[in-house]
Amino acid sequence: MKILAVGMNYRKHAAELGTSVPTEPVIFMMPETALITRNLPFFYPDFSNEIHHEVELVLKINRLGKNIPEKFANRYYNEIGIGIDFTARDLQRKAVAAGLPWTISKGFDGAAPIGNFVSKTELGDLNNIGFSLEKNGQLVQQGNSADMIFSFDALIAYASKFFTLKIGDLIFTGTPVGVGPVQIGDNLVAKIGDRELLNFNVK
Ligand code: ZN
Repeated sequence: MKILAVGMNYRKHAAELGTSVPTEPVIFMMPETALITRNLPFFYPDFSNEIHHEVELVLKINRLGKNIPEKFANRYYNEIGIGIDFTARDLQRKAVAAGLPWTISKGFDGAAPIGNFVSKTELGDLNNIGFSLEKNGQLVQQGNSADMIFSFDALIAYASKFFTLKIGDLIFTGTPVGVGPVQIGDNLVAKIGDRELLNFNVK
């Protein structure tokens, strides 16, 4: 399986990173080895001093597809979950400044903890999914799918022009404003609405 992710899909987050709002989705990939499941801990890597949390809604692809028209994209995912797109911001900054790919800053081992998934039917209006991240009991990020620059369906249509989507692939759909550092000892809890779907520690 593969993990696709989208950079800068929320205006206020693009602003906090000082980047312009993209006219096309910015797609990047993470390897399967980035995943952490079952609320297992995230081990702070020794190659970075600035690991940032980015909480994101995650689509789980349930059908094989290529060149999927946007109007049919909703048939390609049944479940939505929540995950953290951990980013080694120091390494990313260095790569971006040099005009180089940011792969290692996003795709390192453990960079993508994911929680449980919820069926779309349980979530109701997909254009109004509230989600949040708490760090040590404090709310640090809060978002709503209504604020995405590119909708779930637009992302699937765009990504599937380049990459055949396969059953089990995941798409991280971008983070809202409020990214920030984590430290060893932190506890992170991610929720969709008031459902706690992810709860783990940084070690
Ligand atoms: Zn992200």
